[in-house]
Amino acid sequence: MSLIKNFYDVVVVGAGPAGTTAARFAAEQGVSVLVLEKDRDVGYPVRCGEAVSKDGIEPFIKPDPKWIASTINSFVFIAPDETEVKIKFNRTGYILERRIFDYELGKLAAKAGAEILTKAYVYDLLREDGKISGVKFEHNGEPKEVKAKIVIGADGVESRIGRFAGIKTHTKISDMECCVQFTVSNINVDPESCYFYFGTEYSPGGYLWIFPKGSDSANVGLGIGGDKAKLRSPISYMNHFLEKKFPSIPKLTMISGGVPCSITLSEIVKENVMLVGDAARQVNPLSGGGITSGMIGGSIAGDIAGRAIKENNFRLLNEYPKIWHQRVGKRHEIYYKIKNAIYNFSDETLNSIAHSAIKIPENERTLLSIFKIALFDKPSLLFDFAKIFFY
Ligand SMILES: Cc1cc2nc3c(=O)[nH]c(=O)nc-3n(C[C@H](O)[C@H](O)[C@H](O)COP(=O)(O)OP(=O)(O)OC[C@H]3O[C@@H](n4cnc5c(N)ncnc54)[C@H](O)[C@@H]3O)c2cc1C
Repeated sequence: MSLIKNFYDVVVVGAGPAGTTAARFAAEQGVSVLVLEKDRDVGYPVRCGEAVSKDGIEPFIKPDPKWIASTINSFVFIAPDETEVKIKFNRTGYILERRIFDYELGKLAAKAGAEILTKAYVYDLLREDGKISGVKFEHNGEPKEVKAKIVIGADGVESRIGRFAGIKTHTKISDMECCVQFTVSNINVDPESCYFYFGTEYSPGGYLWIFPKGSDSANVGLGIGGDKAKLRSPISYMNHFLEKKFPSIPKLTMISGGVPCSITLSEIVKENVMLVGDAARQVNPLSGGGITSGMIGGSIAGDIAGRAIKENNFRLLNEYPKIWHQRVGKRHEIYYKIKNAIYNFSDETLNSIAHSAIKIPENERTLLSIFKIALFDKPSLLFDFAKIFFY
């Protein structure tokens, strides 16, 4: 007996948070859905800092201690001259156990009726009479085909589904943050704070993070612009940081990967193919966070795909980019401009902002108050920020 049927209403490629959310929202419309995942497990290997806001994920999944490694209530920004600025986070953040979190999202999709097949590598789209009619994939070393009315590409940053469909997926090299991360143990940091280091010494054109996982473990990672990574590798910056700050710390895992810190692709629907998550460049370009925004993209696309099939109206797919841009995409365009200004700040400017910020009493410190004081202290910043909106 075959593991799957020959035909589904919707085939989703990739079982990351965007893919399983798209599958779940489509299945909730009562249509048949298959998710194809190339890896053996949903949620593994993990290539992520695992930070999210509670508000961001709560619409999709009820917070559960089994996938929350840490609860975050403050941020510490560290300037190039080591000035530390602590800011209370007026919301709640989580550091996830993504291996479990992604798995739970997969279970929610399955509960809604979606089928999931792992070790299924999609290598092409299927076409009949010039029209996309499904996907070709390899499962257990054997070539297979499955037909579908709609294909959702949720195949991450290295997405090929978009290209197969003829969508331009190119991202500027400077917008592709090249990341490396160690999960370390025996680290002595506040388990309720996330730490961010800025400046040219550790992370030019990006930032370095320490995200605590429980009381003595943390994800320590950094991302630098692809243009900078060509000159010096992210791992070399990371080794320099660890040797200086945490020499001889035990390193449990090491990962590397790219984060597309750009605006959304100009085309995220083509014919009956929709792209979601990193594949569509739905990452917050300022923070590099793509878990919740990918889930939002997935939920919109999945819901529309399900309705298009039920109503037999495929013009509905064109609603997806519109709704995405209204809800998130337009905001990402502003964040992108802010990113380009901030990531180009000189070390002196970053130090000057930090010196101004620590003058604010800690209980009154917010990102907005820091911004206002920084402007007062260094009016030339106004020009930098004016550029954000006028260039
Ligand atoms: C080092 C690093 C740190 C990060 N830190 C954070 C963070 O702290 N917070 C945050 O919000 N975001 C973070 N991100 C970004 C975040 O990981 C992604 O934005 C998020 O995982 C995107 O979800 P997705 O479902 O679009 O793609 P993915 O999670 O990448 O899932 C794509 C899935 O598709 C599968 N796939 C790919 N190709 C095929 C194929 N041909 N056939 C079948 N399956 C396929 C893959 O195996 C994978 O399971 C980080 C990224 C990196 C690299």
